[in-house]
Amino acid sequence: MKKTEKIVGLYDKYVMHTYKRVPLCLAKAKGAKVWDIDGKTYLDFFPGWAVSGIGHCHSRVVAAINKQAKLLLHVSNNYYSAPQALLAEAIIRNSFPGKVFFANSGAEANEAAVKLARKYGHDKGKYEIITMTKSFHGRTLAMITATGQDKVKIGFEPLPAGFIHVPFNDIEAVKEAVTDKTAAIMLEPIQCEGGINIASPEYMKALRALCDEKDIVLIFDEVQTGMGRAGKIFAYQNYDIEPDVMTLAKALGGGLPIGAAVAKGKFGDVLTPGTHASTFGGSPIVCAAGLAVFEAIKKDKLLQNTNSMGVYLKKKLEGLKKKYHFVKEIRTVALIIGVELSVKGEDIYKECLKEGLLINCTQETILRIMPPLNVTKAEIDKAISILDKVFSKV
Ligand SMILES: *Cc1c(COP(=O)(O)O)cnc(C)c1O
Repeated sequence: MKKTEKIVGLYDKYVMHTYKRVPLCLAKAKGAKVWDIDGKTYLDFFPGWAVSGIGHCHSRVVAAINKQAKLLLHVSNNYYSAPQALLAEAIIRNSFPGKVFFANSGAEANEAAVKLARKYGHDKGKYEIITMTKSFHGRTLAMITATGQDKVKIGFEPLPAGFIHVPFNDIEAVKEAVTDKTAAIMLEPIQCEGGINIASPEYMKALRALCDEKDIVLIFDEVQTGMGRAGKIFAYQNYDIEPDVMTLAKALGGGLPIGAAVAKGKFGDVLTPGTHASTFGGSPIVCAAGLAVFEAIKKDKLLQNTNSMGVYLKKKLEGLKKKYHFVKEIRTVALIIGVELSVKGEDIYKECLKEGLLINCTQETILRIMPPLNVTKAEIDKAISILDKVFSKV
């Protein structure tokens, strides 16, 4: 605990207190395993807030970073570099014909998507963006406005104009909110921060039809759901539709900071020179890491593992639900897992940490579990035995 205390002390003095941190100082990680600075090991079933989607320090990602680091770290975007071109190609080949804008985070990817939609609708007087309650889209001023949760907005008013929220999975509410000023509808196919709320197939189809009919840009925020976690490369592929714009970040960079707005067909040509930019966006080192993530998912057959381990983990959790009355509902899509409790989850999350299991608790009562896509049965068994032990003390 000694070294941890020293680092915590430095944070207290020098780092802004923008996070509710637990006293755990991580020093090293590999796959689903992490070590704290004092040598204790943990099983990580929420690696880097879903950033380390294929596990911490994946060997393919580390090798790609090392190789690229010896060649070129960064170039300005008025020149070309191969990794950016190749990563854009990989994203498009795995989604729909279109073009990619690279940024450095999820919030920035969403900013690009919203700017694209505003520009597309501008000459027709369309600027309003409809988003969902309980959504999460990031922490920039526009994205806290887009986010359908009051808690992120308080104290920052006045907020930018033109954002409207409607309840999730309610097509009638969307139809009522649409006006001749509606530029875009933006949503997560699965609300993760919002508590693992899964869009229904009928809802998604109806949204697509509505946007087609009214010339509204349909934006999917796949910042957390993308890159295999939902059992397909992108969560929307579980539905029989495509968005006009999709945003990515988190797991795309294999641990390095990246964001991307992916626009289909004509939408790929809306943003033109001078309308949008990012100094760091799409740098060679980050894009090389992103390419390694695609390679790992394909060559290591991680989608198969995600689906089969998703089924296995769900079955094990259903077993716990039978045993413990306070487990209300288990909602899963492959390795996106929410365990809704009838009690507060914070103590459970903290007890799990003590027992050596890292998970997350969102919306106060929902445990969010997102193991890496290459998780093994043995790791799941271990996590379940820790959860069982912690639940037995509730
Ligand atoms: C994390 C997240 C964001 C914000 O991403 P940052 O990289 O933190 O800016 C946006 N949307 C969703 C769905 C997210 O999960």
